[in-house]
Amino acid sequence: MSYEVTLEDFRPMQERCSNCLGCKFVPFEKIKSNRFGRNCPSVWYYNFNTYSARGRFQLGQVLLDDLVAFEGETPDIVFNCQSCGACDVSCKVTRFNLEPLAHNIALKERAVALGKAPERLRAAADHLAVEKTMLPGAKQSERAKWAEGLGLKDLTKESAEYAFFPGCAYAYDPGLRDKARAWATALRKAGVDIGYMGAADLCCGGRAKQMGFKDAFEKEAALNYKALSGAGVKTVVTPCSDCYHALKRQYAFIGLNIKVIHAAELLAERLERGGFAFEKRVDMTVTYHDPCHLGRLGEAFVPWDGKEKKVLNQIHTWEPARPRYAGTHGVYDAPRRILAAISGLCLVEMERIRENSWCCGAGGGCGLFNAEFSGAVASERVTEAQSTGADAIVTLCPWCETNLRGAEADNGVSMKVVDLIDLVARAM
Ligand code: SF4
Ligand code: SF4
Repeated sequence: MSYEVTLEDFRPMQERCSNCLGCKFVPFEKIKSNRFGRNCPSVWYYNFNTYSARGRFQLGQVLLDDLVAFEGETPDIVFNCQSCGACDVSCKVTRFNLEPLAHNIALKERAVALGKAPERLRAAADHLAVEKTMLPGAKQSERAKWAEGLGLKDLTKESAEYAFFPGCAYAYDPGLRDKARAWATALRKAGVDIGYMGAADLCCGGRAKQMGFKDAFEKEAALNYKALSGAGVKTVVTPCSDCYHALKRQYAFIGLNIKVIHAAELLAERLERGGFAFEKRVDMTVTYHDPCHLGRLGEAFVPWDGKEKKVLNQIHTWEPARPRYAGTHGVYDAPRRILAAISGLCLVEMERIRENSWCCGAGGGCGLFNAEFSGAVASERVTEAQSTGADAIVTLCPWCETNLRGAEADNGVSMKVVDLIDLVARAM
């Protein structure tokens, strides 16, 4: 299965970008303070227009026109984008339906094709081809270790209503494995019939796509799809935000349709259905960090096969109407409903939330090759979280959790970072 969207396909969007610079800020009507009004980690950190979505559209244009080459600082600009999509949401408020995020990724794909990806990203993609994960040093033979002793059904031998898909970070990281176990345990306590793919479990490939390794993503997606459909899996449940986005949106984009639900959505549903209840208090004030790939990028893919046209030789439009991903239909309420159901727990919100959430800094593989940039973005989020007066940051993504943990706010103080499942396990 293959799909082709190349840099050339974005030329009309490059030309239609109005230089309004809305992509650098939270949509104006949603800004609550000057301090936390920015949305693009890349242009915020580098403070140079080419790092913004607008600048990237211009860069794409001059690359297509052969006015600059993929040399010097160009690959650096292209890859120091978190693929977080905040620009995409803000752009849709100011222009009708441009897609700066897809364009940013097309730039990365062009750079990968020309052999211009940073060495560490290339090594991660090579590792994916061999060990079915981009995590350095991780081995496919150890993938199922996280589930040892849980007695989960092996879906290659028996069936279950849901396939629990932990994702690489939860499966391999010794500091995160317990969370995958806790999610599986909580779902079973809530009466959900789950199994897992055992030794046949694979990487979703989503992070490869974010980094511009389109072929590697397609290869992994095809393998994964074959394994899951071969085992008769009807619905995947995952605790990982990146896997959720990959399976729901990126797979559908290339014609591989897998039904997927995030573990928090399923748990919230069972909680409200009355299958189980929280029994213990958790006295804590927390703030919730919306992961980009679960929130604004977690909207379902809508197939579209239409044409661009001009009205009165002036106004661009599409026939039929083209889907518009504005980020408002991501997964925002399920985790907040779970937090609200835990007695003693108080949620205080940050300024940048839901579709306007600030990225954790681990997006697009930036954490793999530019720790300084990635760390600064995380520090900015911790500063914002600290301003709420919360005791801890709660999130629902292993990459966010790892990147935010240890990051210091402007005052040099870090914050406790927990996965939602840590609080669920304490309350059950
Ligand atoms: S995807 Fe994120 S980091 Fe990249 S240009 Fe857009 S807002 Fe900036
Ligand atoms: S918000 Fe959209 S139209 Fe405006 S400058 Fe940014 S990319 Fe261009």
